[in-house]
Amino acid sequence: MAVSNPRKPLSAGDNLDLWLRSGGMCAMCKKQLILEELGTKTNIGEKAHVIGHGDKGPRREQGKMHGIDDASIDSSNNLIFLCSEHHKLIDTQKELYPAKRLFEIKKAHEDFVLSRLNINNKSIALIHKTMHGPIDQIVLSQQIDSVLVECISHQEQFTDFSLEGWEKGKEDNEKLYKTFIDYYQTYNGVRAEVFPLSPIPLLIHLGTLISDTVPVTIYQYDRYKQVWVSSAPPHVIGNLPDLELTASYVENKTKVLICMISVSYPVHIEDIKVVVNHSQFDLLNISVAQPSTDLVLYREHVLQISKLFKMRTEELHEKNRYNDIHLFYAGPAGLAIELGRCVNKNIWPYIHLYQYRFREMPRHLHALSV
Ligand SMILES: [Zn+2]
Ligand SMILES: [Zn+2]
Repeated sequence: MAVSNPRKPLSAGDNLDLWLRSGGMCAMCKKQLILEELGTKTNIGEKAHVIGHGDKGPRREQGKMHGIDDASIDSSNNLIFLCSEHHKLIDTQKELYPAKRLFEIKKAHEDFVLSRLNINNKSIALIHKTMHGPIDQIVLSQQIDSVLVECISHQEQFTDFSLEGWEKGKEDNEKLYKTFIDYYQTYNGVRAEVFPLSPIPLLIHLGTLISDTVPVTIYQYDRYKQVWVSSAPPHVIGNLPDLELTASYVENKTKVLICMISVSYPVHIEDIKVVVNHSQFDLLNISVAQPSTDLVLYREHVLQISKLFKMRTEELHEKNRYNDIHLFYAGPAGLAIELGRCVNKNIWPYIHLYQYRFREMPRHLHALSV
């Protein structure tokens, strides 16, 4: 049977139980899987029945031998967490996978997960995706060295670009972060795995909440391979192109700093002057040599840019004591979160964030301040 019996849905408790016991990994290939029921925040994996339900279900005749009857057929004791390929395999190659063997695989996997939990490699998945439709599956480019214990997700489409809409977005971020922190404090030594695809100002704001005090891995979506990536894979790491990153600045002894960061698209000063009500300002201009989409994907590149941003901004602020910083950023989602994490709220002034619109005028729309 596929996934679960439509006549008798599993309770959330059962789902969570199996998902946690399996560490969100396929019991056979250990591939990490987070399946979301659209619009809700639940931890659902692909659940395969060891003893299939229905009179003709796979291995049905072996139920009695293993103490599985109609009442217990949907309990997590009779379910094994698998990727879709392995689910299909066990249901089509029934002779190769008798119930006894599957129960052994299930036990070995759940013991393996438990042993990893005991050595504190735990993480919480944090999904922030309010553009391009919700995620129903996360596929990682490489195995993460930890067990996922929770999945927190904000996947409501963001459509209200008014100031009220952005304020609502901030409130949603704060709620999301609070849920995360509750879990963070529940599980000792846990880290966060963050999957972002949302408007940039919301992601920078989320980054300011997460700050640099929480251990996190931030992923970016590789559109070509359709997987989420963080660090560059070993065969790429030595061949990452040089971003030829530059930071230049103009000081006019003012109390306003405008910071331009050009990564995916070039940010133009003419577009900024249209939206900023200051005739005089200091200017920090950070840019890669050739801004283009998909240029910055891997963590190694992301950190080069966020570190430069933090260092230069703090140098200038220390010297000039700004009242306001206006940040104009055209770049990828994961870097937006890292830029937010650079902000030290005890030292930095208000930062005004803008939504970059490639095809509309004015090109930068004031969104929110952090
Ligand atoms: Zn099945
Ligand atoms: Zn598998």
